[in-house]
Amino acid sequence: MNPIGIFGGTFDPIHFGHLRTAFELLQELRLAEVRFMPAGNPPHREATVANSELRLQMVQAATQGQPGFVVDDREIRREGLSYSVDTMRTLRADFPDRSLCLIVGMDAFLGLPKWHQWRDLLELVHVVVAHRPGWRAPTSGPLGELLVDRGTGRINDLHEAPAGCIFIHAGTQLEISSTEFRKLVAAGRDPRFLMPDAVRSIIQQTGCYRSTR
Ligand code: ATP
Repeated sequence: MNPIGIFGGTFDPIHFGHLRTAFELLQELRLAEVRFMPAGNPPHREATVANSELRLQMVQAATQGQPGFVVDDREIRREGLSYSVDTMRTLRADFPDRSLCLIVGMDAFLGLPKWHQWRDLLELVHVVVAHRPGWRAPTSGPLGELLVDRGTGRINDLHEAPAGCIFIHAGTQLEISSTEFRKLVAAGRDPRFLMPDAVRSIIQQTGCYRSTR
């Protein structure tokens, strides 16, 4: 059985930077599926602008009809703080022997040492890192060392073991971020072509980013 990709994020809102990355990884790594997992109440970040239900609704609208894209709402349904390591433990319990690939952008990967129990993550999942404009792979420090120990360029390594490798993916880099997107909408500009039309419609109907923080 092919690996499962897990793509977590606040998705405030989801955009083509997320979707293109997920699609390329689905194909190139031969993943069975990519599970989009909107964060509930992220401990390491400020409160989101759009609420959980709306962010979930936008992720559902963005992924609908795309074979291999699945929405997983476990973090939103969970009460209280959601640490990634705890979420990965629940996924490991659901899929005991399956290869699991946690997908993160390079910016998120560089912040990994601040995550709760981050060293336990690689016991539970592989980590697949997508390059993002403006961010470079670490060459020193704990992550640089981790890359020397656990880094691989072999896609088959992700298929043959259930967890434990780091794979860096150099795909199409789209310079789209949710933060910049929210500023654009708050300034009264049209976000067309930055995200699927179905998501743009939800944003326009609800006015959720008309004023931003
Ligand atoms: P913000 O600008 O508020 O930080 P974001 O655009 O990074 O938001 P998140 O929901 O925080 O969106 O990101 C979820 C995951 O997607 C993170 O691992 C992030 O690194 C990754 N990601 C976000 N945008 C891109 C992009 N354009 N290309 C590749 N990965 C991305």
